[in-house]
Amino acid sequence: MKYRLMDLLACPVCKHFPLTLYVFNTRETEAPPNPKKCELYCGYHSAWIEEIGEEPRCEECWRKEIVNGLLYCEKCGRWYPIEDEIPRMLPDDLRDRNKDVAFLARWKARIPVKILREGKPFNLQE
Ligand SMILES: [Zn+2]
Ligand SMILES: [Zn+2]
Repeated sequence: MKYRLMDLLACPVCKHFPLTLYVFNTRETEAPPNPKKCELYCGYHSAWIEEIGEEPRCEECWRKEIVNGLLYCEKCGRWYPIEDEIPRMLPDDLRDRNKDVAFLARWKARIPVKILREGKPFNLQE
């Protein structure tokens, strides 16, 4: 998943924007010629464009592919896995509890405790 997507992704359940991104690992890739700049929120800089003040360096947003990570919605407390470069933004009823719990367990050391304990729809506390 490109950092660039953070400018577009909202929580599918409560529509909150922007989501909080936790990156576990990335790989380098080619940026396209004339990459589109982030317009509202830049995930690479973790900041609103108007707060950055200068031209955001979005070539860097494009040059990295997030392989594994997690997206978190501060509003409703849901989290979404990024696996094999794909963000899985599914509503609760389409999620697989066993897979989600296995994902949390696998990346436990990299995930904030509040998500491990209270994240929705699944966490390691239940
Ligand atoms: Zn950007
Ligand atoms: Zn939400």
